Amino acid sequence: MTELECLPYGVGNTDEGVCLLVRMGPHRILLDCGLEQIDALTAEAEPPADLVLCTHAHGDHARGLLALHRAFPHLPVYASEVTAQLLPLNWLDEPDVPDFCHALPWRSPVEFADGLSAELIPAGHLPGAAALLLTYATSERTYTVFYTGDFLLSNSRLAEGLPLEEMRGLKPDVLIAEGSYGTARFPHRRQQENQLAERIHQAIAASQSVLFPVPTLGLGQELLILLRSHHHFTGRAIDIWVDERIAAGCDAYLELLHHFPSSVQNFARHQSLFWDERIRPHVRRLPLDPGLRQIALSGPTPAIVLTHYDTELSQYVHASLLPWLLLVPQQPGREGAIDALTEQRIQASKSLRSLLKSGRLTLDTYLLGEHCDGIGTTQLIHNLRPQHVVLVHGPSNYLADLASLEELQNRYHLHTPLAGMRVDLPVGETFLQPAAPETQYEGELTEYEDGALVTLPPVLLTDPRWQSFADTGIVEVRWQGDSLVLRGVSQRELLNRGDEPDILPGTECCGNCIHYRGQRCWSQASSLFGFKVTPEGYCPAFSPVPPDPDAEPMDFSTNPIEREPDE
Ligand SMILES: [Zn+2]
Ligand SMILES: [Zn+2]
Repeated sequence: MTELECLPYGVGNTDEGVCLLVRMGPHRILLDCGLEQIDALTAEAEPPADLVLCTHAHGDHARGLLALHRAFPHLPVYASEVTAQLLPLNWLDEPDVPDFCHALPWRSPVEFADGLSAELIPAGHLPGAAALLLTYATSERTYTVFYTGDFLLSNSRLAEGLPLEEMRGLKPDVLIAEGSYGTARFPHRRQQENQLAERIHQAIAASQSVLFPVPTLGLGQELLILLRSHHHFTGRAIDIWVDERIAAGCDAYLELLHHFPSSVQNFARHQSLFWDERIRPHVRRLPLDPGLRQIALSGPTPAIVLTHYDTELSQYVHASLLPWLLLVPQQPGREGAIDALTEQRIQASKSLRSLLKSGRLTLDTYLLGEHCDGIGTTQLIHNLRPQHVVLVHGPSNYLADLASLEELQNRYHLHTPLAGMRVDLPVGETFLQPAAPETQYEGELTEYEDGALVTLPPVLLTDPRWQSFADTGIVEVRWQGDSLVLRGVSQRELLNRGDEPDILPGTECCGNCIHYRGQRCWSQASSLFGFKVTPEGYCPAFSPVPPDPDAEPMDFSTNPIEREPDE
C-alpha cells in the first residue's frame, strides 16, 4: 500500500464544492467541506477522517462543515483565525450555530498526531484564506502534501497574495492545486481594476445605475474598497447601497481589521473601511423594508447596488426609473462571455430576462480575478516542483487544458480526478525531473501623464545579472514586434556615447583629434585653442587619437529581459 492517496468527495468542477480526503500513512485528513449534501461523508457510523482542515470561508469550501460537525461533534475542524471567524456567515439563516472551528496560527507547523503536522500559508484570494502544507514523518522518510485551496498570487485590496518566492524549491511529494481559470491569461490586477472603474464611471456618466450580484464575502468588499479609493469615485456624490448579507460580510471584516494588510489598516485609520457618512462616495446599508428601499433608490442620480447573487435582481430595477447596468463576472479567458453560473442564474429569472429584453436593464461583464490565471498556476507548480500534481476546482475542460500543457506533462505526474475516484500517489525516492523552465517574471505598469513606471519583482534584484543591468540606472528600450525589450546601459557605453553625434572613426575632424576634450580644443598650435568646437570641425593642427588596444565591440545583446509575445 502506498503511503499517500487522495479520495475526492467533491472536486468543484461545477458548483458542487470541494471536499478531499487525503490519507498520509495511517492518518486521514479531510481538506475542505464545500458539499451541499454530506451523505457520502456520513455513510458510516465513524467519522470519515481524523481531522478537518478548512482553507477559507467561501461556501464552496465550507458550507458542509456545520452538518458535518452536527453529525460528528468530536471530529476536530481547524482553519486560520480569520476563517474561523468568517465561517458562520455561511449559515446566516441557521439558529444556534456553535463555534466549532479551532484557529491555527500562520506559518507555524502544528502537530496533530504522531508525525503528522500542518502549516498554514497565506493564499491571497480572501482574507484568512490559507494554503496547507501537510507533513507526515516516519523513521524512513518524510511525506509532504501541499494543498493550495483557492489562491491568488497578486495582492488584492484586502488580502496579500500567496508568497510565491518563499515557496520556491519546497518540493512537496504531492501538490493539490486549484485550476479555476485553466490556461486563461489575465492582465495585471491593477489594470483589471482600472478597466472596471472605467466601465462603472461611463455608466454613471450616462445616468445609469449599476447592479453587482456578489457573494457574501470577497468580491463585494473588494469592489467597495475599489469604489472608495479609485479617483473616478472619491469625493463624488454617488450612493453605494449594500444589501444585508454583503453588509454582514463587511461588519465581519471590521471585527477582524487587525488581521488585515497594513495598507488596509492605514486606510481604516482615516475613515471607516465601509461605512462613513462624512466621506463620499457614501456606502450605506439598503433598508430591509421594501418601501424604504424604493425611496432609497428612487432618487434622480444613479446609484450603485451590491447585492447577494441569490436575491431577485429585478426588484432593484423596478425600484428606480433610471436605466440599469448589470455587471457580472466574465467567463475566464473569454472576454464578453458570462460566467456559466451567473448565466444559469439569469436564465432562471423570468423578470430579469424580460427587463433585459425591454432595454431597461443592460448586461455587461467585467474581470476582477479571484483566482490566479494559467500563468500563475504553472508558475506555482514550477516553483514548488512536486512529483504529483492533482488538479481540482474549475470546469473540467479548464482543468484538462492545464493537464495537457507540455511544460507540465514533461515534468510531473498529473491527475484530474472526478468525485469518488481514488488517486494513488506513489512517491519515488529519486525522481528524475527536467529542470523547471526559465522563470517568467511579472511586473506592474503605472501610466502617468508624462510617462510610465515599470515595477519589477524584488527577486530579480538577487540575480547576479542584475548588477550589470542596473549599473547606471539607465535603460535602453526598444520595440521588438509587440514586445518591449529593456536593456541596462553600462558605464562604459555611457562614457563612449557622450552627447556627441556619430562621427566615423578615422575621419580627420575635431571629434577624432587628440587635443579635443570636453568639447573644446586644447591644441596651442591651433587657432581654435580654448574655444568650444563641434566634433565635425577641422583645423590644420589635427592630430589623430591612437587606436585603443582594449576597445571591444559594443555588445547590445546581453541579458535582455524580455517577455514572450502573446499567442
Ligand atoms: Zn474561494
Ligand atoms: Zn473555491
